[in-house]
Amino acid sequence: MKTSTEKARETARKELKSEPLESVIDRIIFEKLNQNSSVLEHEKYFEIPDKMVMFYKYSYGKQSRFFSELMNRAELYGSRCTKCGIVHFPPRSRCSECYGETEWKKVSTEGIVLSSTTSWYATSEFFDKVPYAVGYVKPIDADTGILQRIDLKGRERIEPGTKVIARFKEKRKGVVSDFWYEIME
Ligand SMILES: [Zn+2]
Repeated sequence: MKTSTEKARETARKELKSEPLESVIDRIIFEKLNQNSSVLEHEKYFEIPDKMVMFYKYSYGKQSRFFSELMNRAELYGSRCTKCGIVHFPPRSRCSECYGETEWKKVSTEGIVLSSTTSWYATSEFFDKVPYAVGYVKPIDADTGILQRIDLKGRERIEPGTKVIARFKEKRKGVVSDFWYEIME
């Protein structure tokens, strides 16, 4: 027996396979744009649906090294306050406790779950991962935690205090979903 989540996942996959994603997007845009024409001072204006393509890049700014080490070396970097010594993960350019300057610090891939919840819904990237847990994980040598996906490995929930280890995607893009956590057996 298939669950309703499995059925919904299958339908979404079939729809995406039967029609290229680009034309699905185009169809949705045109349907939406055609719904209502603008009325200005009680007069309806003739409009033609069109689309605008935008190329851009955004900067990670002072968080850059976290993403470059993650992508290039599959390593996790936090920041250590040079004044009070607190280790933030994810990194901060200034300490949230004393506003002191921070320096980069490589942190362990092993971590402890601070809190977590189980999710039964997902966007397309995580369809095949449902159900999965999302929680705050603190590396064993850091003082704060990161909100990240945790593989349930067949369990229904993960208790605070559970030991986890970071796993990395083969092909990394320099985004936070390049890694996730898994329960340490
Ligand atoms: Zn500090």
